[in-house]
This record gives sequence, structure tokens and C-alpha cells, in this order.
Amino acid sequence: MKKHLVASFEDDYPYLTKEARFETGDGWYDILRDMFSDVHQAIVDGGYDKDVMTFTQIKEKFGTLNAYYTCKDRKLMIVVSPIIDKYEIMSHDTCERCGDRGTATTDGWIKVLCGRCKKQDRIRD
Ligand SMILES: [Zn+2]
Repeated sequence: MKKHLVASFEDDYPYLTKEARFETGDGWYDILRDMFSDVHQAIVDGGYDKDVMTFTQIKEKFGTLNAYYTCKDRKLMIVVSPIIDKYEIMSHDTCERCGDRGTATTDGWIKVLCGRCKKQDRIRD
């Protein structure tokens, strides 16, 4: 993910994202932005201190968004876990490169790409 996109997360949710390594394409930017917003809201609503939770790694694995985090509070974990699951599921049909609707590639490396990005890959090869 491009540096300026990661920087926008760090500006808005520094306590959630500044320790995190981002290893996904730019197409999942909106998914991540909404996920951080929902998680942040859950922390605010629960009245937690901001050091209660932080993401450590955001990566793509087998065509799916994987968000790793540490959380010091069990109750909060029960709240944020389904939020994060929801966004990981959304990544299943979102092009990792451009954010359009996509499907998983079946040849070799599994990636979720839209028709246009798949075509670009074929031209490049
Ligand atoms: Zn695409």
C-alpha cells in the first residue's frame, strides 16, 4: 500500500495503526478505512483508553485481508472481532489493486482482482 495512504490512517487513528505493517494493495484502502473507523468507534463507545488495542499487521493471505492486532480487554475483543471479520469477508470480492468488484484468481498466486486488472496482468506477462 502506498505511503501516503498508510499516512492517512496514521493521521486519523495513530494509536491503532502506527505500529502496523501494511502489506496489501491500494484497492483495499476503503475497506481498511471503514474498519479502523468502526473499531475506533467501538473503543470510544466502550469508554476504553486508547492503548487498549493496536493493529500489528495488515496483510493479504490467499486473497483475503488478514488484520492482526493485540487487545488487552476480553470484552472489547468480543466486540471488535466480528467487526474485523466483516471487513475481511468484504475483501473476498474487492479488487486488491483498484477497489472495484473482483473475484479470486485461480491461476497460481491467489489474488482478488477485477476483470480490468486481470486483463492488465495478462498484457504485462
Ligand atoms: Zn481492479
